[in-house]
Amino acid sequence: MKSSNWVGRFAPTPSGPLHFGSLVAALGSYLITRSQNGQWLLRIEDLDTPRVVGGATQQIIHTLEMFGFEWDSEIVYQSQRTQLYQQALTQLMRQQRLFCCRCSRQQIKRRNRGFYDGYCRNRILSIDNPNSNGFAVRIKFESGFESFYDEIRGKCHFASPADTQDFVIKRRDKIFAYQLAVVVDDIAQGVNHVVRGADILNSTPRQIYLYSCFQQPSPVYFHLPLVVDQAQQKYSKTKLSPAIKADKATYWLIQALEHLGQQPPDFLSELKPQEVLIWAIDNWNLNKVGTDPKVYQA
Ligand code: GLU
Repeated sequence: MKSSNWVGRFAPTPSGPLHFGSLVAALGSYLITRSQNGQWLLRIEDLDTPRVVGGATQQIIHTLEMFGFEWDSEIVYQSQRTQLYQQALTQLMRQQRLFCCRCSRQQIKRRNRGFYDGYCRNRILSIDNPNSNGFAVRIKFESGFESFYDEIRGKCHFASPADTQDFVIKRRDKIFAYQLAVVVDDIAQGVNHVVRGADILNSTPRQIYLYSCFQQPSPVYFHLPLVVDQAQQKYSKTKLSPAIKADKATYWLIQALEHLGQQPPDFLSELKPQEVLIWAIDNWNLNKVGTDPKVYQA
């Protein structure tokens, strides 16, 4: 029964099949949401078309189904929502926060060690001149958004030049950037609790800034401990981290529960994936979730 106003989501990028790191993100977000009787949404972040791998979306959905995950409402696809992102961009443009930037990565690196230095800030994108052809669109970032509270990590603070630079919201190749799309979608879908991997931790101030531009409250954040390989590299779909197989769903769920500090008892290995999820919802304990990356050896 979903009785609370709690709305969570899992938002994978289909750049490859689900790997152990993304299973941890899906499971953590599912358990945190369902243990509060919240709604859990599935959104496919297929906006960055050069990174999208053919068939990965269907593979991810199939794997989630085989693992017993159940989502509320229709699946949302970012590739079908560019109009919404354009409207959001127009809103920010009216607020005179946007400017056009033609600086290449190399130029930025040469000038300022790779951090954007505000070189094009006077090329304001305006109602009179809304054409950004051939440019990236950046937003002027403001100070005051460096710190936020994370439910797992406590107070987080990001004030390095990389974290506070004016950031891209529409790329030169006309693709809307992740930072904009994720905020627009979470607002549109009423997501008020964001649970995801700690690899996105330092994007959070930028996203909270965008919430403030749209005059919306930012969600409550939970950043889960990363899964790393033996070289301490984060698991990622693009680096071809091993895909998880649905025929061993119970095994993988137990591994993911272990990663989340939930101390799964031995008898879980006898259960179906759906039954493991029921146990995990009933026994969920946020206080047991750690903060440090953990090595997972496939
Ligand atoms: N699409 C992102 C990923 O697959 C997750 C975005 C988010 O949870 O905010 O890593």
